[in-house]
Amino acid sequence: MTHQFRGGWIGGRWISGEGEPFSSRNPASHFSIVATGNGASEAQVDEAVQAAKQAAPGWAQTPYNERKAICLAIEQFLDNWKERCAPVMTREMGKPLREALGEAGSLLGKVRVSAIAQESLPSLQLPGAPGTTRWKAHGAIGIIGPYNYPVHLIHTHLIPALLAGNTVVYKPSEITPWTGELYGELLNQLDLPEGVVNWVQGGGSVGAALSAHPGLDGIAFTGSWATGRKILEANLDQPGKLIALEMGGRNAAVVLEDAHLEQTVHEIVIGACLTAGQRCTATSRVLVHSEIADRFIALLVDALKRVEPGDPTDGDTLMGPLATEGAFLRYQSAMESLRSNGVQALLAHRNGSGGGFVYPSVHVDKDIHPDVWRAYVREELFGPNIALEVIDGDEDALERLSWSPYGLSQSIFTGSSARFAWWVENSRSGIFNWNRSTNNASGLLPFGGVGQSGNFRPAGAGSALHNSYPVAVLQKEHGAFDPDPRFGPLVRATFAQEKETA
Ligand code: NAD
Repeated sequence: MTHQFRGGWIGGRWISGEGEPFSSRNPASHFSIVATGNGASEAQVDEAVQAAKQAAPGWAQTPYNERKAICLAIEQFLDNWKERCAPVMTREMGKPLREALGEAGSLLGKVRVSAIAQESLPSLQLPGAPGTTRWKAHGAIGIIGPYNYPVHLIHTHLIPALLAGNTVVYKPSEITPWTGELYGELLNQLDLPEGVVNWVQGGGSVGAALSAHPGLDGIAFTGSWATGRKILEANLDQPGKLIALEMGGRNAAVVLEDAHLEQTVHEIVIGACLTAGQRCTATSRVLVHSEIADRFIALLVDALKRVEPGDPTDGDTLMGPLATEGAFLRYQSAMESLRSNGVQALLAHRNGSGGGFVYPSVHVDKDIHPDVWRAYVREELFGPNIALEVIDGDEDALERLSWSPYGLSQSIFTGSSARFAWWVENSRSGIFNWNRSTNNASGLLPFGGVGQSGNFRPAGAGSALHNSYPVAVLQKEHGAFDPDPRFGPLVRATFAQEKETA
């Protein structure tokens, strides 16, 4: 049965969307409709921002321990809720149920980690400072999320924002509105004052209205570079607003000649196939040293051949479908463009049947015009496809990596700590994994990228730094001052004259 989703939650009440109608669709079942409803109108976006603004001073003044206790109470509701949410997530975007349960179940851990981050804010006071530093909440923050982690990537921005004392307006992806609504229902069980959390449904136009809203003090966005760029452009005249962007990746595994081959193939297969390659940290490039290339390529291709896309509700399924018909068609056209440009496939692209299913594929940089290859490895593809290059050494690999403007996650496979250290020093990336998949990240460390992958780090271990701002507080004792040699006599004369005339 089709679910009718609600338009959002503003100032402590449900709203019916007064904007555009839209639906989510099941990519594992011929893109059949899962949920349908209306997005918010521009006036409703404004109402949500006003509600968040109004609630901001009260929430910022609520003692931190109270804010933390309210957020931690999520623990009581999580077990039941994740069992409701994960199957919906799977239906709306095709993530295998096991991965969906993992995502929905991770929300408590995020609260705990974000609290540690909030409690570890640096003092930012140098020795001998004539005052103190105080961290203040920005005010009202807009959060815009993508489809591939439809719960986690709202939550990972929302919790640090609330802990720091900000109020929030969020918009879930239009691909996963029912999942977004379920997350709203989870938050409704917490003891949050009215207006502290507000959310609206909708697509790009609702995201655009929210992110450009002058009433907001910040935007935490996760999504593509194309959208992040629009958000930056829309905010050129609001320089005081935090525009924190978590965007795409073209993440590479660099396989050096001393790599442990079984470990390397294992980590690359996981990196390429989890969530059908639709993770910002997915492995989509492999650069292998010529000394081991033949054997490594044969093993990698053989392992990838064994990965079958399948029913995401089945607990044994390794890889579900691409999330939408649009994503599936874009992927087809990228594969067709590789074919028509003569890029050789070591493992040819194939579609499954019944929706957005695709098999893993591998293309190789061989007998091809450099411009064609550079265009291919420049952009994010968001599917289980690997661009494979044979390298002469570390410098060659580094030069090739610079062909993409993204810099989110890199893996280096080598037994040498010195070579790994060289990579951390010389390459540009937000995350370096030594002998681990590019998909590996930790909430206990900073999370984010460089270049077109992002800027600030409002999620991860540094979240508290970006959800508040430091103010310098300086003071003098009442009535005490050291007379300035030039202005002091002048002011003294004024007071002396006043005394004479009195
Ligand atoms: P997207 O950019 O298409 O959409 C993301 C969100 O932006 C959606 O909610 C959408 O409605 C909204 N939006 C669209 N147009 C907008 C506009 N003009 N102004 C404001 N908001 C607008 O991204 P997607 O397809 O949902 O997600 C996939 C992308 O997200 C990939 O590029 C992936 O790498 C990236 N991603 C990055 C991270 C990270 O942490 N760096 C994590 C997950 C996904």
